[in-house]
Parts: sequence; structure tokens; C-alpha cells
Amino acid sequence: MSRFWSNIVSELTPYVPGEQPKLPGLIKLNTNENPYGPSPQVLAAISAAANEQLRLYPDPSGSALKQTLADYHGLSTAQVFVGNGSDEVLALAFMALLKHEAPLLFPDISYSFYPVYCKLYGIDYRTVPLDETMHIRPQDYSGACGAIIFPNPNAPTGIGLLLDGVEAMLRAHPDAVVVVDEAYVDFGAESAASLVERYPNLLVVQTLSKSRSLAGLRVGFALGHPDLIEALERVKNSFNSYPLDRLALAGAAASFEDEAYFQQTRAAVIASREQLTQELEGLGFEVLPSQANFVFARHDAHDAAQLAAALRARSIIVRHFTAPRISQYLRISIGTGQECAALVQALRAILPQADN
Ligand SMILES: *Cc1c(COP(=O)(O)O)cnc(C)c1O
Repeated sequence: MSRFWSNIVSELTPYVPGEQPKLPGLIKLNTNENPYGPSPQVLAAISAAANEQLRLYPDPSGSALKQTLADYHGLSTAQVFVGNGSDEVLALAFMALLKHEAPLLFPDISYSFYPVYCKLYGIDYRTVPLDETMHIRPQDYSGACGAIIFPNPNAPTGIGLLLDGVEAMLRAHPDAVVVVDEAYVDFGAESAASLVERYPNLLVVQTLSKSRSLAGLRVGFALGHPDLIEALERVKNSFNSYPLDRLALAGAAASFEDEAYFQQTRAAVIASREQLTQELEGLGFEVLPSQANFVFARHDAHDAAQLAAALRARSIIVRHFTAPRISQYLRISIGTGQECAALVQALRAILPQADN
């Protein structure tokens, strides 16, 4: 606390991202990064953009990237917004679209950044419990609300919601914005991008951080009705005119031009996920059905925090959350086949020795 701070600062509860330790030989399965590097075409495009033109500001609206995204999703550029990672897109959406008299609704178990944005902007919110099997039940969102946001597939459960369910929420609330945070959608869930044309209250948010191996480049985007996009542009242009630099704009567009690489790496992650799920189940874990690039797993006989600590002692980092409903789960990002095998081997060694 400092006497120089604006009043709001001491009241904030900032989001704490998974750690990025710089230990040699570490197996890092804690922040859902892609184990494979970005497409070589992306690296070539970034290298090509690293030239004397960097003295110039980038295109403030990122029109070329918007065109690429619009073409990819069969939409117009007026239906596309780009930002510095989807966290920034979400931050702008919370301010531009989610603050209303009635509360914002999101699941009790969900992306823990949502309540942080609510606090920052003074947004009233109410959490809606997942059902006993940890699924989002669309009918539980039928009450009065100012807006709705949820990840699909949900984080940190990895469980996806079928498009029917998304559509039911959109239809139940024609006067409220429904934001679908699709950070992990490419790993097996159904995208609501195909509904954008039909529902003016839908905003779909995606990122290049996970399925496109570009967490370090910071690029996210939103798809929605031009009125929703305009709201995001108005807030963005009151905050930072150039959130995406020239290298990010070039690399992001190139990623959508290498469809083969995208398909190949996401299929590899999905295959590793299915194999890891089976192996964890073989070790006695209960693994939630994941459509993401991570699994959420618990073991009846072993405390999750202790397992996480034991893995860490073997240089394997996974994510453990302390919220009561999920404190016995570990969130394990899908690594390469080799990394997954090392995890299973470490668990084999740890399990018999752990408590009870
Ligand atoms: C990773 C993640 C994001 C943010 O990704 P960016 O790297 O900021 O694009 C957004 N929502 C969820 C649910 C995530 O897991």
C-alpha cells in the first residue's frame, strides 16, 4: 500500500498466472501452452516483418489480420476484433459489454480471471454452480441477468458444452450479451462462430495462445455482430491505439495460412490427451472428459496438493487450485508424448509412497 495509489488499487485482487520458472530440465505442464512450436511459416513471417519498417507504427485496426480471420470464419471484417491476447479482448469486453444493472452470470468453477475483471470495473456478478458431474447446465442460466460469460470447453474442467446448449442460452436472453470464451475450442469442442450471423447478442472470443502455439506472441480475437465489435473498438481506442505490434500481426496472419500444421499439431495433442487419460485412469485417477489441451484429474486416495508437490520435487509442474470444490484436482497440460510418459512414470513412483 502506498499513499500515492489511486483508491481502487488497494482493493484489487489481481489474477495470478501459472508460474514460469526458469529451471533447466523442467517439464512444464502448468499453463496449457502447446508442447509443439509454432508453424515454420509463422516464424518466417515474423522474421520477414523484423525490418526497418519497425520504425513505423503498426496498422491501428489490424485490418489485414481481421481480413484473414473474417475469411477463415466466413464473416466480414466488421464482425472481427483483434487484441493483445484474448485476456485483453476479455478485459475490453467486460468493460464494453458486461456491466449492467442486473448481474453478470458465470460458472462457479471457471476461468479465475472473470471475477478479477468484475472487481476492476465494479461489475456485479453471480456464479452459477456446475452440476454434480461438473457440467454447465444451460437451464440454470435462465434467470434475469445483465450478461453471461463462460469458457467452452470450460476451464479448468476441460468439459465442453454442445452448441444446442449455447444456443439455448442465446435464445433465453435475446437482450443480454453471451460471451463464449473459446480458448480451447480447437481441441475438440464445437465453436459458436457459426452462430454469429444469427445471434446479435453473441460474442465468441478465441486465442492463438493454445491451439496455435503462440502464447508468446499475444494475439486473441473476438467474433460478433458489428455493434458488439464497435463497442470493443471504442473502448480499445480510448485505451491503446496499437495493441498488436507489426511482428504479432504478421505472425498471427501466417498461422491461419498453414492449415496443415494446425491440423497436425492439434491432432497430436488430442491423441496424447486420450492416451494420458487412459494411463491416469489406470493409476486410479478419476479424469473428467476433456475437450481441451489439459486434463483435470483427482485421485481418491491421494491429496492433490501433496501430489503436486511430489511431482514438483521431480521437476514436473502441474497446476493445483485451492478453491474448495476443486482442491482435490490437478490440472495437467498435455505435453509431448515424451513429457506425458515422464509424468506417468513419476506418478507410478510417487503413488505407492504417498500418504494413506
Ligand atoms: C488461456 C486462456 C485465456 C487467455 O489466453 P491469452 O493467452 O490471453 O490469449 C482466456 N480464457 C481462458 C479460459 C484461457 O484458459
